[in-house]
Amino acid sequence: MEYRKGKTVSGGIAVGRLKYFEKKKQRIEPKTVSDTDAEVRRYQDAAEKAAAQLRELAEKTKKVAGAKNAEIFEVHAMLLEDVGFVAAVEDVIRLRRADAEYAVWRTGEDMARMFEAMSDNPYMQMRAADMRDISSRLLTILKGDETGMQPLSEPVILLAMDLAPGETVQLDQNSLLGFVTRFGSANSHTAILAGTMGIPALAGVEIKPEWDGCMGILDGRDGSLYVDPDEETLARLQREKQEEKKFRQYLEGLKEKEDITLDGTNVRLYANIGNINDAEAALSFGARGIGLFRSEYLYLESDYFPDEETLFGVYRHVAELMGGKKAIIRTLDIGADKQVNYFRLGKEENPALGCRAIRICLQRPEILKTQLRAIYRAGLYGNLSVMFPMIISVDEVRAAKQIAQEVKEELRAEGAPFAEHMETGIMIETPAAALISGELAKEVDFFSIGTNDLTQYTLAVDRRNQELEPFYDVHHPAVLQLIAMTVSNAHAHGIRAGICGELGADLELTETFLRMGVDELSVSPSAVLPMRNKIRSLDLRNAG
Ligand code: PEP
Ligand code: MG
Repeated sequence: MEYRKGKTVSGGIAVGRLKYFEKKKQRIEPKTVSDTDAEVRRYQDAAEKAAAQLRELAEKTKKVAGAKNAEIFEVHAMLLEDVGFVAAVEDVIRLRRADAEYAVWRTGEDMARMFEAMSDNPYMQMRAADMRDISSRLLTILKGDETGMQPLSEPVILLAMDLAPGETVQLDQNSLLGFVTRFGSANSHTAILAGTMGIPALAGVEIKPEWDGCMGILDGRDGSLYVDPDEETLARLQREKQEEKKFRQYLEGLKEKEDITLDGTNVRLYANIGNINDAEAALSFGARGIGLFRSEYLYLESDYFPDEETLFGVYRHVAELMGGKKAIIRTLDIGADKQVNYFRLGKEENPALGCRAIRICLQRPEILKTQLRAIYRAGLYGNLSVMFPMIISVDEVRAAKQIAQEVKEELRAEGAPFAEHMETGIMIETPAAALISGELAKEVDFFSIGTNDLTQYTLAVDRRNQELEPFYDVHHPAVLQLIAMTVSNAHAHGIRAGICGELGADLELTETFLRMGVDELSVSPSAVLPMRNKIRSLDLRNAG
């Protein structure tokens, strides 16, 4: 038996034969052509066929993974038809008298590398994989191959260096038990698709071609891959797979159930989101609201400041989608690890302690004003709240509220319809905010504790430094005491306190948090049902 550990891309257990999938060699050498017009036409025909394939894939994806996931192929169609791309391919054919295959490969590679170089923008970096997917689709058509991926004859766990979204959705779900890749990240489109299609998947595993045909077990719970498992391991994981299946079915049955403990304590069980897709996922997992909309993702995905109408469109969509359920929109949390070029933030020695979040918004109020205008206007379409991040002082909260007041006055003067009465909250993410939470509570309607940053700043441990992981002790008593203090100060002033950092989803601490009086837990959409199950099993009358 061989054992490898990777990153979980999509949970669940898969047991079956391993199939090693090798992509054809992609590097292409140029050939000289005499009739460049004919070669351009050949390329244009291939592009038309590729567009037709993408439409078909979009249809297929809609069926297996929903409309939102099908958008990936619309992005591909856009990149395929992008005037810059088309002109560049045609230029290579005409100016270098090169064949269409080389022109497509060269242009695709150049553009992919350009996207890869955008190291401060992970969203644009993801476009590199999309670009390669498109050029390999065009090459397959130009070379007359049917498809790079042969249909699978029996259910297998696929091993590949990487998988493009197009390849993932093309795989017959009934034949694909799971997949393991050498490259690829948990944020890639392939990963998102795998999660939506419910296929267990791992990335970052050093796969070997000689494993082809061996039995394998993929355990997405802890990122394990067993090759040629011994009988005992096989029997154990088969059993756990059955149990897991039953447990998932049981959790599905909790979707409509209340978030209430055995002694009758009600908890607001909300979800954290970064975009509209996540909001849909939150609802489908039975979340009762959105406790944190990380609004900065709209800025991270863009190359320029999103305008008011763009922001309004997204916030309104989320508000409408949620019906009357609450959605808390956190204002921009740019800076530190979330860098955006067009903000021109400048280099800092210590970005986590630098110009980020509310600090940027107070220094450049026009950015915050645009966002707040969009939020207040969208507030008419649902139950929205606004929340300010990274607070350290009462003055900051007052300054942010003052800007909010000005925005409302401007909207009123313009006669623009907007939600007059919207709850305003702040995140408690710094030890300073927790320590003065009694003062801060007088200023706002609710607190949401961001334990990711609160832990980082309390323990003075960079949350992104993997080498420091042993020191990033999320159960540290200092952090727990600051949480307890915050909740108690909130209640003393008659306001709510929730947790929206990762620690809120830690089932080992749910009882502790509820005993502290935490009113709201906001977790990732897929953690909602396990959390509901936990809440419903607790009895706070028992001695803690
Ligand atoms: C937090 O710090 O806990 C939090 C929820 O904010 P983010 O993870 O986006 O910094
Ligand atoms: Mg934070």
